[in-house]
Amino acid sequence: MAGYTAEDEQIIGQQFNRLLASCNKICKNEADWEMIKKAFFIAKEAHKGVRRRSGEPYILHPIAVAQIVVSEEGLGVKSTCAALLHDVVEDTSYTVEDIENLFGPRVAAMVDGLTKVAAALNEDVSAQAETFRKILLTLSEDIRVIIIKIADRLHNMRTLGSMPRHKQIKITSETMYLFAPLAYRLGLYAIKTELEDLSLKYMYPNEYAEIESKMEASAAERNEFIDRFIQPIKEKLTADGIDFTISGRVKTVYSIWSKMHRKKIPFEEIYDLFAVRIIFKPNEESAEKAQCWHIYSLLTDIYTPKPDRIRDWVSFPKANGYEALHATFMRPDGIWAEVQIRSERMDEIAERGFAAHWKYKQENNAEDEFDKWLKDVRNALTHPAGDTADFLENVKMTLYMSEMVIFTPKGEARKFPIGATALDFAYDIHTNVGNTAIGAKINHKIESIYTKLNSGDQVQILTAETAHPTIEWLDHVATMKAKQAIISYLKRVRQNNIEHGISIFEKRMREFGITPSARLFRKLLPAYDCKNKDEFYSKLGSEIINLNDIDKVLRQNSKNKVLKFWTFDFAGNNSKSKDIIVKHSQDVDSLEGPKFMVAECCNPIPGDNITGYKDPRTGDIVVHKTECQELIALAAQKGENLVGNIKWSTYKAESYLSEIKLRGLDRVGVLRDLAQVITVELDINIRELQIQSHDGIFEGKISLYVPDTEALYSLIENVSRIKGIDKVERV
Ligand code: MN
Repeated sequence: MAGYTAEDEQIIGQQFNRLLASCNKICKNEADWEMIKKAFFIAKEAHKGVRRRSGEPYILHPIAVAQIVVSEEGLGVKSTCAALLHDVVEDTSYTVEDIENLFGPRVAAMVDGLTKVAAALNEDVSAQAETFRKILLTLSEDIRVIIIKIADRLHNMRTLGSMPRHKQIKITSETMYLFAPLAYRLGLYAIKTELEDLSLKYMYPNEYAEIESKMEASAAERNEFIDRFIQPIKEKLTADGIDFTISGRVKTVYSIWSKMHRKKIPFEEIYDLFAVRIIFKPNEESAEKAQCWHIYSLLTDIYTPKPDRIRDWVSFPKANGYEALHATFMRPDGIWAEVQIRSERMDEIAERGFAAHWKYKQENNAEDEFDKWLKDVRNALTHPAGDTADFLENVKMTLYMSEMVIFTPKGEARKFPIGATALDFAYDIHTNVGNTAIGAKINHKIESIYTKLNSGDQVQILTAETAHPTIEWLDHVATMKAKQAIISYLKRVRQNNIEHGISIFEKRMREFGITPSARLFRKLLPAYDCKNKDEFYSKLGSEIINLNDIDKVLRQNSKNKVLKFWTFDFAGNNSKSKDIIVKHSQDVDSLEGPKFMVAECCNPIPGDNITGYKDPRTGDIVVHKTECQELIALAAQKGENLVGNIKWSTYKAESYLSEIKLRGLDRVGVLRDLAQVITVELDINIRELQIQSHDGIFEGKISLYVPDTEALYSLIENVSRIKGIDKVERV
């Protein structure tokens, strides 16, 4: 492997010196400095000669990640070493034990965690929902692992341009789905914002460029306006003797873009393109909180405030530790502007998130919102209800929700996500209270348990021993805790119903003298509108359906149904690098290769940018628009199933033609039996039948039209039951 050039060495030296300069504030003694230098030399040696896809020396990546860890996340010496070493175990011959011998157990444990996270993300086989669960598990071990991983992801996003398109989509989806919400939850606002912005840039490059250029075009005018708005505030606060800085912060492309989409308005109709931030140095005489309100009051002397738009995150910090007073004032041009008021301490928490939060927390050891959230996630991880994908959806839900404060009858304040209902509140009190809730007194008025709460509501739950959760409840809760409790209750009940259903069904089948078979269920399930056997048994057991008309159902001939799918043919296999040509036609299917279908959520038509998603259960490839939100969510959870490089073409597929081969004893009547089974019992058309017989053995090949693979396999099953036939297989 070629070494680095003198020019490379120079860049590496520069970047490392920059990192060292930033380490000034974290290194307390010579040993700290030595440790960081040692980590650098070992990482450099380990990655020697290796280059990133962009061509730059690999070591620049760990240096950049360490730089983010120090200057943007505010972590300490050990984390910085772990960041420098984060790819060493994954990519080189170093082991975790080597790291432990050189740097001690803490750094080694972090590198080990980072290696596991990297391995989980690289894995092609396991579902990505499971991957994310593994990543979240590291939360409960050492939260710094996740924070360093976020730095790693941030640098990868900053340098995503040199990656191939399908990797860009995979990495961007994971970022939007997990890493940006995690950064938010850990209070890393600046990083969360940048991750979102970069994701948008790679997800929708055209829209991103358009907004960016419009922002640039209006920048000069906007800056002038910000100056004019700020000037009187500066004068007023200075006159009052406050030590402060003030700045006008322009919104990011992402936040503008999401507002345009949320409100369905064009760029030109977004007026609040900036927010003003005041950061003050508190004086000794009064509390920070009082000073926030004092500044607010000074501002009201200049501009008219909007009374219902005050956000007091000082009295009620967000669960991620965020504190600030947000207020909205009328600008001279008649448009509302947001002003954020923070002390220096609050600002450090807002910018550095978790690390800063931890630093200030050591002073008062009380359990805070952050600890509570962490406890919830740990709980959910150790007591999962539902499958991994559901779990992840729920955790994700807790990551992004904005919050409101609800009071118990005794005046205790509890935090809930916006959209939470009285039922969420009931479950927050206790699972048993939730499971038996029948109503709520909200501000002393009786309301339904489905009622959405508003910040400041006081709630008391009414219960009854006979009440119990129903499936409908799931549509009326917004918290992970409530959802999990309801699901686990329903699961218990459902299991009872299934067992009851099975015994009813088996008894009935004995009366008819029928042995249940796969084919029987193919008839029964659609007739009773059930997706699978469990649903069928459960409905039967809970008396939602009965079997009174089962004889009629059994007599019905299963007609070949016309499939309403667009179907596709494709060239090559679905290896990631090969181009897949999608050929489409309507209402036809081909049994060659995987089945393609158009996603119902976004319904792409020829000309749309499309990406395929391979359904892991069926192997079918569902074709989505590349920008489809469902796809992004799927890709984030199960990115390994993405099929990139799909293209439209205008081929019209002909038929569902398929072939089977069979072999057996040449007995009289075997052909007749065969034709009987295929055309009469199964209602399938034979196109061609070739039979050759020799030495009492016959071999045949049948070409036939079938509606889908399911019908084909059912046919194979039935044909193989014909007396004398010993081998049937699909060609
Ligand atoms: Mn890395």
